Amino acid sequence: MLIPARMSEAEERRWVGVMLDKLAAQESRSVLGDRELTERALRLSEQYFGGRARPGSVRWVTNQNTRWGSCTPSEGSIRLSHRLQGMPEYVVDYVLLHELAHLLVPGHGPRFWRLLEAYPRTERARGYLEGVVAAARLPHLPEAREE
Ligand SMILES: [Zn+2]
Repeated sequence: MLIPARMSEAEERRWVGVMLDKLAAQESRSVLGDRELTERALRLSEQYFGGRARPGSVRWVTNQNTRWGSCTPSEGSIRLSHRLQGMPEYVVDYVLLHELAHLLVPGHGPRFWRLLEAYPRTERARGYLEGVVAAARLPHLPEAREE
């Protein structure tokens, strides 16, 4: 991000704040809707599971703060936590594939992880999500001092 020269520190901080707000607004506009999310899940199932996982509905939920995703195999419904919004696509895809795999295999046994091996970014996405959890536990950094 380029910052124009000759700004005072306070101006600079204000300006960065404005830019970050703009970026956040753009990001939230590009978040997938529930229908696009379902279509994406169908494509991922096609690509990695030979279309065997058939989700009935995939939607964002805001009441899920301890899990990234969940599913009800009997209904074929998948729910993703809104906290994934704004994360890289490969992470969202991993969580979708994880829940899609549960439509085929309950639990997290060897058969489950063998299914997810088909997705080349499983380990990377799991590391990313672990990092997010770890970062949330870090003490907050002290705020920049106003002059
Ligand atoms: Zn699981």
